[in-house]
Amino acid sequence: MDRVAVIGGGLAGLASAAALAPRGFRVTVLESRLRLGGRAGSFTDPESGQLVDACQHVSMGCCTNLAHFFATVGVAGFLAPQPRLHFVTPDGRRSVFKADPWPAPLHLGRALLGAHYLTPAEKLRVAWGFAALLREKPDADPPLREWLLSHRQTQRTIDRFWGVVLVSALNETVDRLGLKYARKVFVDGFLRHRDGFVVHVPTVPLGRLYGDELRNWFARHGVEVRENAAVRAVEVEEPNPPTPFPKKEGGVSKCPSPLGGGVGEGSWVSGLAMRDGTTVNADWYVLAVPFERVAGLLPPDLVEREPYFGNIRKLTPSPITSVHIWFDRSVMSLPHAVLVDCLGHWVFNRGEVSPGEFYLQVVISAVRSLRELGHDEIRRRIVTELGCVFPAIGQAKLLRSKVVTEHTATFSAVPGVDQWRPSQASPVANLMVAGDWTATGWPATMEGAVRSGYLAAEAILTRAGRPEQLVRPDLR
Ligand SMILES: Cc1cc2nc3c(=O)[nH]c(=O)nc-3n(C[C@H](O)[C@H](O)[C@H](O)COP(=O)(O)OP(=O)(O)OC[C@H]3O[C@@H](n4cnc5c(N)ncnc54)[C@H](O)[C@@H]3O)c2cc1C
Repeated sequence: MDRVAVIGGGLAGLASAAALAPRGFRVTVLESRLRLGGRAGSFTDPESGQLVDACQHVSMGCCTNLAHFFATVGVAGFLAPQPRLHFVTPDGRRSVFKADPWPAPLHLGRALLGAHYLTPAEKLRVAWGFAALLREKPDADPPLREWLLSHRQTQRTIDRFWGVVLVSALNETVDRLGLKYARKVFVDGFLRHRDGFVVHVPTVPLGRLYGDELRNWFARHGVEVRENAAVRAVEVEEPNPPTPFPKKEGGVSKCPSPLGGGVGEGSWVSGLAMRDGTTVNADWYVLAVPFERVAGLLPPDLVEREPYFGNIRKLTPSPITSVHIWFDRSVMSLPHAVLVDCLGHWVFNRGEVSPGEFYLQVVISAVRSLRELGHDEIRRRIVTELGCVFPAIGQAKLLRSKVVTEHTATFSAVPGVDQWRPSQASPVANLMVAGDWTATGWPATMEGAVRSGYLAAEAILTRAGRPEQLVRPDLR
C-alpha cells in the first residue's frame, strides 16, 4: 500500500487525505498546530474557555466540493442554509435579498429592484453591468475598477453594490481586484443557478467541524492525524549531476517514479525533516501549507531554479479582521446582516452562547488601514456603528470583546494572479502542492482549498497510473 504524507491539516490537506484514503493509500496528516482546520479553525478563548472561531466562515450554494467534503466526513448537518440575505444601512433601513420562483438569472431580479440603498437609475446600471459580465470571456482579467467604469458603473454603484459583494467574497478592494474572479462570484453565485447565492453558515464553532465525525471517518479509513507535528524541511534528492527539470507532457512532468518505475530524470522527495528531529518517509507527499510557507520548506536552490516554486513568492496577501463582541442581552433579531456603507462588512448573530452571553461577530475584509488603529479603537468604531443599525445595543452591556487580525488571510486576486498559481502536480516526481492559492480556478476560499486537495489527489492517481476525476462538477 502506497504511503502519503500530507503536510498541513487545513481544508486542502484534509480533503486530499479524504480523497486518497478510500482509494488504497495509507495517509498521514502532519499538522504543526494542536488543532485541525488551519485558517478555517477555532481557538479556545482563555477568558471564557469557549471555542471561538478565529473568524466566522461561510460557504455558498455554488461551493460543490466543500459540500461534498463535509458530506463525506459526516459534518454537512452543521451548516445551515440562509436563503434570505439581510442588507442594512447605517440609518437602520433594511432590504431582504431572496430568490423568486423563477429560473436563473431572473430569480434575483425582484431582490435587486428592492434594494433600498440603490436608486432606480443605479439598479439599471447594475443590471447593465450584469449583462456585460455575462458577455465577458471567463479568463479576461483586466483591472476591475476600470472595467466597471467603462461599463456604465459609477463610484456609487461600485461602493454600494459591486464592492459590498466583492470585498467580502474575494477579500480585496475593487481598486486592486482583477475582473476574472469578480465575474466568477457573480456568475457562479448569482446568475448561473438558483441556489448558487444561498449562504451556508456553520451552526457550531468551526473547530467542531473537525471533531468526532471527521476523526472517526479518518480512523475508519486508516488516516493517521498527527497534531503538533511541524515539518522543518522537505528533503529533495537531485539526480547526480543535476539535470534540468523535465518538460511537461499533458500537464504532468516526466519524472522518475520514486516507486521504481522510472519514466525520465528529475528530482524526488526522499523524506520530511520534522522540527522534533525525527524523519517521516512516504511514497507521495502533499504540501498543503499557506503560500508564504512553501519556499521556506524547500531547498533554496530548487526554489531559485524552478519558476514553478519561485513564482509562488509573487502572490501577495490581503488581511481580514474579525471583531468578537459579547453583550448581556440579545441586541439583533436577524441571523446576520450585510452592512452597506459601514466599516464592518458582515455581522453574524451567534445567539446566546452561554447563559446571559449573546455573541456577535463582525468581519472586516481587506481594510489595510486598520493596522494604524489599535484594537480598542476598532472595537469602539464597530460598536458605535452597530448601535446605529441595532438600537438595542444602546441598552446592552458589553461584557467582553476580542479583535483578531489575520494579516495573510488570503492571496490577493489582483489582475493576472493566476500566472503565479501553480498546478497541484509539481515538477518533483512525488510531490504535489495543495492550498487555496494553487491553480483551482477559484478565489481563496474553503471551496478553493478543498478543490486543491482533490486535484492533488487526482495528480497522485495520475502519476500512479490510475487516473480518476475527483473534483465535483459545478451547479448547472
Ligand atoms: C479571517 C479569515 C476569514 C475567512 N473567511 C472565509 C469565508 O467566509 N469563506 C471561505 O470560503 N473562506 C474564507 N476564508 C479563506 C479560508 O479560510 C481559506 O481559503 C482556507 O481555509 C484555506 O485552507 P488551506 O488548507 O488551503 O490553508 P490553511 O487553512 O492555511 O492550512 C494550512 C495548514 O498548514 C499548517 N502548516 C503550516 N506550516 C506547517 C508545517 N511546517 N508543518 C505542518 N503543518 C504546517 C497550518 O498550521 C495550517 O493548519 C477566510 C480566511 C481567513 C483568514
